[in-house]
Amino acid sequence: MRTPRTFRRNLDDLKLRRRLKQAIAYSGLLGLIFLIAVWISYGFGAQLNNYAYDAMFRLYQPKPWKLDSVILAIDEATISWVDGGMMNIRRPLARALHLIDAVQPAPKAVAVDLILTDRRDPEVDRELAGVFRATPNLVLSSLILDDPLGWEEPRPEFARWAAAKGHVYAKPSDEDNVTRVIPLDKHVLTQQRWAIALEAFRLSRGGGTPLESPDDVEVAGTLIPFKRTDAGRLMRVRYLPPDRSVPRISVKALLEHPSRAQEFAGKVVFVGVTAASQVSDRLSTPYSFGATTTGIEIHAEAFETIVQRLFLTDVPLSWPPLFSLLLVVTAGLCFAYLPGWRAYAGAVVVLAAAVTGPYIFFTHQRVFPFAMPATAATLGIAASAAWQALIIRRDLRRAEAERARYQQAMHFVTHEMRTPLSAIQGSSELISRFALNEEKRQQMAQLINSESKRLARMVEIFLNVERLSAGQMELKHEEIPLKDMVQVCIERTRPLAERKHIGLKLEPINGDPLLCGDRELMEYACYNLLTNAVKYSPQRTHVTVSGRKENGHVLLAVKDQGIGMDSREVKKVFQKFYRTRKAEESGEAGTGIGLSIVQQIVEQHGGRIEVVSQPGIGSCFTLVLPAQN
Ligand code: ADP
Repeated sequence: MRTPRTFRRNLDDLKLRRRLKQAIAYSGLLGLIFLIAVWISYGFGAQLNNYAYDAMFRLYQPKPWKLDSVILAIDEATISWVDGGMMNIRRPLARALHLIDAVQPAPKAVAVDLILTDRRDPEVDRELAGVFRATPNLVLSSLILDDPLGWEEPRPEFARWAAAKGHVYAKPSDEDNVTRVIPLDKHVLTQQRWAIALEAFRLSRGGGTPLESPDDVEVAGTLIPFKRTDAGRLMRVRYLPPDRSVPRISVKALLEHPSRAQEFAGKVVFVGVTAASQVSDRLSTPYSFGATTTGIEIHAEAFETIVQRLFLTDVPLSWPPLFSLLLVVTAGLCFAYLPGWRAYAGAVVVLAAAVTGPYIFFTHQRVFPFAMPATAATLGIAASAAWQALIIRRDLRRAEAERARYQQAMHFVTHEMRTPLSAIQGSSELISRFALNEEKRQQMAQLINSESKRLARMVEIFLNVERLSAGQMELKHEEIPLKDMVQVCIERTRPLAERKHIGLKLEPINGDPLLCGDRELMEYACYNLLTNAVKYSPQRTHVTVSGRKENGHVLLAVKDQGIGMDSREVKKVFQKFYRTRKAEESGEAGTGIGLSIVQQIVEQHGGRIEVVSQPGIGSCFTLVLPAQN
């Protein structure tokens, strides 16, 4: 015997399962949204990240510090002032450097970004070499040559006085050409050159060879925490706002006012061309708004970045996805658990977190990509809100359908009960008003008795059905011999069938299959199928009942030669109060509730009901029920 179960438990299970299914679907949706956000931000987020980076860059500025560098600029004014322009720049440069070399305290280092690969006026070259010789910690720059591949070195008479040779390259972004990073070093063939910013820092601090690891470079006791990547070891430059940029003194200004050489005292000097007309690669920075700058200026700022250790490093790769997941989950929870406006207030908090999170990291010198959390929060909020709106709409529809069903049920009760009630009323009135003979009185009393019994039965069925659907009824577990039960139902139907000259036939049932369940309810189900078969069949036809055991199930089939149904009707017959048009026209009394009760009974017993029907040919209803072992 199976342990008794209650319908309430069944119903609770059902609700729980439905809620669980809903929760799984909702989590799945949020998971999908998260994946889409990750995909979008990896695919298309780079430029958004750049915009956000630049905006934060301008919004948050580190405290001003005393600058350690000065630029000796070969600007437009200098070039137009020198006879022969750039071609003859070496002499004024030599004189300017000579002035700078003489100041006290001496400059800490001098980094020169000029092409010194060709021979010019030997006398001037000698003068320049002489100045270089006297220049402390001189860094010269070299360019990369394509053909043949290699470093294009300054002439040996200059190079011999250089304490280091560096590069002056920058790395503009692929997306918008803004220079946010410089490569700390460049490799050509086997030769490595460090950025002149780094070399100037190293020499000015008396450092030895930089110590490299995959994650960082140590230079003169300062750890520069930028990883080596496929694109090189890229360092973010913490540019100064335009009103605080590295001071610039032109060669012309210095030569005209030699006393200004004092401004270079004790500083690191960056020497290079700043005249836009002379520079082939124009670079822009997060501050320049389309205006261009030059390599030497960028490297001077990079030098300041290293001196102040203002290293803007990436957060670990896993943080943006984790933060984004957290935002999606929080948005999901807000809409699942917070009512009304509170959910939207929660959404605003989620959005604010997505925007301010990267900014807070930025103020702590960590770069947190903006696109992923912003996309995740936006999509997460949109999806959660849409989902909850759908759920609310569906619940509303359900509640409306429930109310409609309830109204139908009330209608059924009042309608069905009116007939027995008026019979009882009429008979009792007759008895009390008139002096009836004994026989008549007996008849009336019998009528009152049978009608009130019918009424009681109807109330009982109606209540049972309501309790059944509310899951409040306990299901009895009795052993029911199939043959016996079918026989009882057939006998009960026989008078109805005889009135229409319909033959009721029970086909032999092999063995003695046993069912397990509530006998009263089972009989109701079987009787209902039989009366329907009789009701919806023309006179002088046959209704055949058959039963058998098959694969652990007991099958009970009721087959008629009646009006039948088309497939569209078959789909609807289990709905409460549904009747086919042909059934209505047949004149047979009915309410359309019987089959819905049968279906509930069968399903509560762990079985199912199947229908095969054809209009004008007949129907066969089969109950498939678990057999008693
Ligand atoms: P009722 O018989 O009181 O109308 P049911 O719920 O028992 O209610 O049946 C619902 C409808 O299904 C019937 O009105 C009828 O249209 C259709 N139906 C049920 N059984 C048969 C059958 N054996 N043959 C044809 N139609 C049927």
